[in-house]
Amino acid sequence: MRQSDSVLKIKGIGEKTGKLLQKLGIETVGQLLQYYPRTYETYELPIPIADVKEGKTVTIEGSVIKSADVTRYRNLQVLTCIVKDPSGSIKLTWYNQPYLKNQLTMGTRHLFRGRVVRKKGVLCMEQPKQYKREEYVRLLPVLQPVYGLTEGLHNSTLSKAVKAALSECETEPEKLPAKIAKEHGLISHRLALTEIHFPKGKDTVAEARRRLVFEEFFRFMLLLDHYKEQKSREPNHCPMTKTEKCNEFLKRLPYELTGAQKRVWGEILADLAGGGTMSRLVQGDVGSGKTVLALLSMLAAAEAGYQAALMAPTEVLARQHMAEAVRMFEPFGYETVLLTGSMTAAQKKKAYAQIASGEARMIIGTQALFQEKVEYQKLGLVITDEQHRFGVRQRELLSEKGEHPHILVMSATPIPRTLAIILYGDLDISVVDELPKGRKPIRNCVVGTGYRETAYRFIQKQLAKGNQAYVICAMVEDSETTEAENVLDYTEQLREALGPAVTVEYMHGKLPAKEKTERMNRFAEGEIQVLVSTTVIEVGVNVPNATVMLIENAERFGLAQLHQLRGRVGRGAEESYCIMISSSEAPETMERLEILNKSNDGFFIAGEDLRLRGPGDLFGVRQSGEMEFAIGDIYADAKLLQEVSETVKGLSKKETEQLYQLWYAEETNKVIRDMAESI
Ligand code: ADP
Ligand code: MG
Repeated sequence: MRQSDSVLKIKGIGEKTGKLLQKLGIETVGQLLQYYPRTYETYELPIPIADVKEGKTVTIEGSVIKSADVTRYRNLQVLTCIVKDPSGSIKLTWYNQPYLKNQLTMGTRHLFRGRVVRKKGVLCMEQPKQYKREEYVRLLPVLQPVYGLTEGLHNSTLSKAVKAALSECETEPEKLPAKIAKEHGLISHRLALTEIHFPKGKDTVAEARRRLVFEEFFRFMLLLDHYKEQKSREPNHCPMTKTEKCNEFLKRLPYELTGAQKRVWGEILADLAGGGTMSRLVQGDVGSGKTVLALLSMLAAAEAGYQAALMAPTEVLARQHMAEAVRMFEPFGYETVLLTGSMTAAQKKKAYAQIASGEARMIIGTQALFQEKVEYQKLGLVITDEQHRFGVRQRELLSEKGEHPHILVMSATPIPRTLAIILYGDLDISVVDELPKGRKPIRNCVVGTGYRETAYRFIQKQLAKGNQAYVICAMVEDSETTEAENVLDYTEQLREALGPAVTVEYMHGKLPAKEKTERMNRFAEGEIQVLVSTTVIEVGVNVPNATVMLIENAERFGLAQLHQLRGRVGRGAEESYCIMISSSEAPETMERLEILNKSNDGFFIAGEDLRLRGPGDLFGVRQSGEMEFAIGDIYADAKLLQEVSETVKGLSKKETEQLYQLWYAEETNKVIRDMAESI
């Protein structure tokens, strides 16, 4: 069996599992092997029931003292039973697994392992797994891989499939030159794969990870190098020199640009009119006012007779930009169209026609913008907003829609400059390092769960003043279903706490796009006062009247992500507040969160994060949504990234190009296909 073979070739994987794997983006054996564990579970000895604590995953051993019972709650079947040991008893709950009932009869003695939560004030264990004693004893010394899952797919199914793939799949030739592997003391790719999925211990998993991260960064650096090389040879195919309309636009703005905005705008203009194609990254902390720079650039493109495309990472954000653009461009008479995946076929068709004929000068949308069907008449500028959600490849594909259009990338990911230079090696960098005047710094606090009631009362007071609030729920489990459940439950709880006079609504990734937009609009218009959401609102959303951001389970987020979330408030003239509720009061957690408490500066936070976590923090909180790495972590693995960067720089031009071909030739087609399918 080869890595390019379908996963269906693996023993034990049928159509049904194949479909589920497809949902995770796994179709080939190679992709399965590259679907690395998210973390590892270590098993400990069972603890007395009297000692279980909220928020922890623990194992208990006891007997069922009341046979299991199934009830219905909304569209869920809830199975519960009570388990007792000499120290006490606890309720266990399972969702949509009514068939477990037969195994949980009175007197059954088992070990149960699961997360302890508080429901209606009482501790209970959710979705525990059951083990016989012999079975559990065997698990004690090993690290068990924990994979990201999708509904209907069990961790054990995935781990069995990986095991089978590892034993049946032939070893592919090494792509990393032997010389480099040796110099950096890297184990073989094959060994690394085996160890990352089924580690013998913590040391071997670290070695395995180091090899895989090195390789991933190496690939990435090759790509950057390739683009940089290509771009440095590109002259300016789309010169944009007129600025009358832009000046007019600036005059109409209700505010003056900050010094930093002016400087960056100057840099962009120089690129647009200069001798080469622009490839520029605009970095600026949340709220520094990057959107207006994007709109100005679009106007410059339109004035020079080109089309400009602005791509946002989410539907919500695309629609928000659209609304703003329509309003701002209104006096200039340029047609602005929206293109997103959730539009109806007829709407899309109309948009395609407008884009192809050139009638649409400004095009705003999601990834749908670079679907194959979209043809531009004269695309001269491509802007991607909140770039960290897009890969370098995606950016490149969009630019292939035009004749070497200028590329502008907006990012609020605050990464230290040294890292930025490595990661955005193919781009020139501008920094908007100044916030608009009159912003009051956000007031922060980090508190334990005991403060929740007080926080609710505080929110009530803010609402009474006519302000609005966001509440962010962390994902408790990985599956999207539980994520939605969690938000629903929380919303109910909050409605009860705040009373019927307050409109509380929820938002999560699984809602249909139309619903999301509709709710976002109602929130923007003040109809919804409190929005309970998952991190779908993390990027870009701008509702200046919202003054409170309450983040539950703050300890589960990376610092950069928390900073992004917090950036949703403090956008208006009023004092804003960010309340981070942590379920863990462990000193490391508190120290980490304290950084956010002390500072509102994204760059400082990113630097501190790096310092605190250090390289090789294998079991730490992973930064999510940052770069497109499957395993590498730009913060935790910063040293390795530097090492790789130097290694690639040390290669000759010929070596780099050969290696680039080796790594990317087959890939290119696949990326295009995947992207077309993802829309
Ligand atoms: P981000 O950099 O996070 O994308 P936005 O572009 O969304 O920030 O801007 C945040 C808010 O600040 C918006 O409401 C925008 O209208 C406002 N804004 C932008 N520039 C200025 C400025 N120079 N003075 C005052 N307000 C500004
Ligand atoms: Mg923005």
